[in-house]
Amino acid sequence: MDRQESGMSRDAAAWLAALRDLEIEKPLRIMNVCGGHERSISLAGLRKAIPDNIELIPGPGCPVCVCPEEDVYEAIQIALHEDVVLVAFGDMLRVPVNVPKREPRSLEQARAAGADIRPIASPREAVDIALAVAPRIVVFFAAGFETTTAPVAAMLDEGVPDNLVVLLSGRLTWPAVAMLLESESPGLDALIAPGHVSTVMGPEEWEFVVTRHGIPAAVAGFRPDTLLAAMYSVLEQLKTGRRSLDNCYPEVVRAGGNPRARQQLDSVMEVYDANWRGVGTIPASGYRLRESFAAHDARRVFRSYADDSRKRVGEMPPGCDCARVVLGKIYPNQCRLYGVACTPRKPIGPCMVSDEGACRIWWSSGYRENLWEDRGEAVSRA
Ligand code: SF4
Repeated sequence: MDRQESGMSRDAAAWLAALRDLEIEKPLRIMNVCGGHERSISLAGLRKAIPDNIELIPGPGCPVCVCPEEDVYEAIQIALHEDVVLVAFGDMLRVPVNVPKREPRSLEQARAAGADIRPIASPREAVDIALAVAPRIVVFFAAGFETTTAPVAAMLDEGVPDNLVVLLSGRLTWPAVAMLLESESPGLDALIAPGHVSTVMGPEEWEFVVTRHGIPAAVAGFRPDTLLAAMYSVLEQLKTGRRSLDNCYPEVVRAGGNPRARQQLDSVMEVYDANWRGVGTIPASGYRLRESFAAHDARRVFRSYADDSRKRVGEMPPGCDCARVVLGKIYPNQCRLYGVACTPRKPIGPCMVSDEGACRIWWSSGYRENLWEDRGEAVSRA
C-alpha cells in the first residue's frame, strides 16, 4: 500500500483491492458527469491508484461551464441597465463572456462598474434580499443542473415576494450523456452516474445508458469508497458481459428520487431544447419557467438583452478548449492555455472559474504539467 492509499478508508482500500483483482487488461474509459465526483477522484488520487489501463474521464459535470454566453451576457446587461439587485451563486460572478475590451466581461466587472450584484449561497438568501430591498426588483440569475434548479422551483412553488424574478439557466444532465452516446465517438465504456442528481430525479434517469446503449452504469456518492465501488461495478460488468444500473449510493439515492422535488420542478418549469456553451443545442436539456410563473420570469419582466449573435456554437474565449473538456474529449491539461495563460487566479474560460470545473479541480489537485503537445482527438492518459 503506497502513501496515497494509506489515507483511504478500509472500505475504499477493499474496493480498490477488488478492482485490481478483476485483472482487466483492455484499456477502458469510465466517465463521470459530476464536479463533486471529479473533485473526489482528483483529490483522493484515484487516477493513480487504479490500474494504468483504466481511464477516469471528467465529462459534462459543471453547470457554470455550460451556461450559455448569451445568458451570462443577459444577466450582465440587466444588472447594468435596470434598477435592480442581481443575485447569483458565487461561481457565476467571474464567468467571462466575449465582449469588446471597454465593456464589463463578467458580473464581477459589472459590479465594479457600479451594478448592484451580490453573491448568494441559497435561494433563501435571494428571498431575504428581496424582502429587504422591496420594492426594488431582485433578479436571481439561477444557473445549475437539477440539484440547483429543484430548490429554485421549490422557492417559486412555495411563494416569493412580488419583487423577486428569476433569470433561469437550468439544465438537465442526462441529455448531454445521451448526446454523447448517440454520437459517432462517445468516448466512454462505462458511466459513473451522479449521486446528487439521482437523489432528486431517481436513478431510473440513467437506465437508458444500460438498456439503449449497453453501457454499464453505477450511481456513486462522493467518498472514495463509493466511487471505487461504482468503478468496480462497471468494470465487473464489462468483464462478465452482465449489464445493469447499479446503485452504489443506496443510503441517499432511492427509487423514484424525491417525488416532492420532481413535482415542484414539473409544476414550475418546462423542459425545452437548450443551448450549452461551446456545445450547441441539446434536445430536451433545459428548464424554463412556465407561463403561470411569468410574473417572476426575468425574461418576460425585462425587455430582452439576449444577443442572438452569441448563440453560435463555439463561443468560448479565444484559445479556450473548455467545450472539449466538458465533453470528455481532452483532459484539462491538454488545453494549450492550461497553467500557462489560464490559472484559477487569472481564468480564461469557465472551466477554470467554477469549483465544479474540471480545469480548476485539476489545478487545485496538483496537476501542473501542460500536456498540450501530446494531445490528439482521443483522450490520452494525463
Ligand atoms: S485551461 Fe482555461 S482556457 Fe483551457 S479549457 Fe480550461 S478554462 Fe479553458
